[in-house]
Amino acid sequence: MTSELLSYEDALASYDPVMGLEVHVELGTRTKMFCGCSTELGAEPNSQTCPTCLGLPGSLPVVNAIGVESAVKIGLALNCEIAEWCRFARKNYFYPDMPKNFQTSQYDEPIAFNGYLDVQLEDGEIFRVEIERAHMEEDTGKSTHVGGATGRIHGASHSLLDYNRAGIPLIEIVTKPIEGAGERAPEVAKAYVAELREVIKALNVSEARMDKGQMRCDVNLSLRPHGVEKFGTRSETKNVNSLRSVERAARFEIQRHAAVLSSGGTIVQETRHFHEDDGSTTSGRIKDNAEDYRYFPEPDLVPVAPARAWVEELRSGLPEMPRVRRNRLREEWGVSEHDMQSMLNAGAVDPIVATIEAGADAAGARKWWMGELARNANEQGVALDELPVTPAQVARVVALVSEGSLNDKLARQVIEGVLAGEGDPDAVVEKRGLKVVSDEGALGSAVDEAIASNAAIADKIRGGKVAAVGALVGAVMKTTRGQADAARVKELILERLGVEG
Ligand SMILES: [Zn+2]
Repeated sequence: MTSELLSYEDALASYDPVMGLEVHVELGTRTKMFCGCSTELGAEPNSQTCPTCLGLPGSLPVVNAIGVESAVKIGLALNCEIAEWCRFARKNYFYPDMPKNFQTSQYDEPIAFNGYLDVQLEDGEIFRVEIERAHMEEDTGKSTHVGGATGRIHGASHSLLDYNRAGIPLIEIVTKPIEGAGERAPEVAKAYVAELREVIKALNVSEARMDKGQMRCDVNLSLRPHGVEKFGTRSETKNVNSLRSVERAARFEIQRHAAVLSSGGTIVQETRHFHEDDGSTTSGRIKDNAEDYRYFPEPDLVPVAPARAWVEELRSGLPEMPRVRRNRLREEWGVSEHDMQSMLNAGAVDPIVATIEAGADAAGARKWWMGELARNANEQGVALDELPVTPAQVARVVALVSEGSLNDKLARQVIEGVLAGEGDPDAVVEKRGLKVVSDEGALGSAVDEAIASNAAIADKIRGGKVAAVGALVGAVMKTTRGQADAARVKELILERLGVEG
């Protein structure tokens, strides 16, 4: 069933959106949250399980110290207070991919609470998103429904369960209601998740890859008529897994809610599924309230009481926060806010920094990562840092260009060779015979040849039409197979013809 939508402008003319964003981050710990099972991806189904994460009788959980440390670091980076003492809680419900019949989570005693994250919108404006809490919990297993057309349980002949993921540590980060963003609510949602992802990556507690499900966002949204205090009924769009989808989901829900409300209908409190193909959402299940889960303190785990001295030690060890770092780099590199944003969106900031550290100048490093390499990554549908080229190799290409051994065209072929697995830049240069022809004798005869076989053009240039020199430069580049320095070729031609450049 397709939903009726009101135009975005009409929706905002009557209603004020209120959002709540819940982000789950899978921590990059080596073992699970409450047992010693490996968290490595891609293993045989159910090979990374034990009595504890399978919920067998008599098994007892033990909390993962790195999991707690990561949670505290995330809390501190989000300007939260860190609980002096807190407990885990059981969230009781039945789901086939959850073998214990409860999820070990935190309820009224989260490890971190009352924080904020400042996010920068595209026009440079800063919007403060307040954080309600960040708490520790565990992931569920994974069900695969076989036999149906859509991969959903509906129409399937049987289902398979893999508990390798059950018990992998998660941090859930919940915002306070985000009010006052108006028409920019979808943009704020996207900017918040983007900034949060950068923070998580900077803390080195997770790779936070949304495409791999390591970070996913639930978008809660409600509308209220302008001037009304009370929040409207919310919908919760689950597991949105890209930045663009977060923005689209918020936008779609604003338009859908507005259509329902303005025609006199009521919004059902429910979860919804987001569809990547057309950006729509469809009804999931009627949302349960917290009391339905019968939360109670987990009796098998001791409370977590992070010592203040340890918390302060972690605070003083926090890395430079991404927004501060970006502003610093932007000034150092002398680039605009817009260019910095493009580099960020392309995932190029870290590779560029590493290339500069490997000896390249900033402009050279930017040029290759944002040009040739970004194009390659796009074509192959991979992230920049997944390309088979290292920052040191890119730095070497930049060096070969600046010392004059390669021109841009040859350098592109070198990059192509490196990506094709032909070895380091110097090896590719050697194997493919890519060197700028700088031998004046060889260049000189190529120039003489070009002038002789293009006499009419040469006459034009002698007669003052200097712009025509491009055709002769082109001819020389052709005979040298692109391996000449075009600027030097132009100088030589003009010299031979006795014309001032
Ligand atoms: Zn286990």
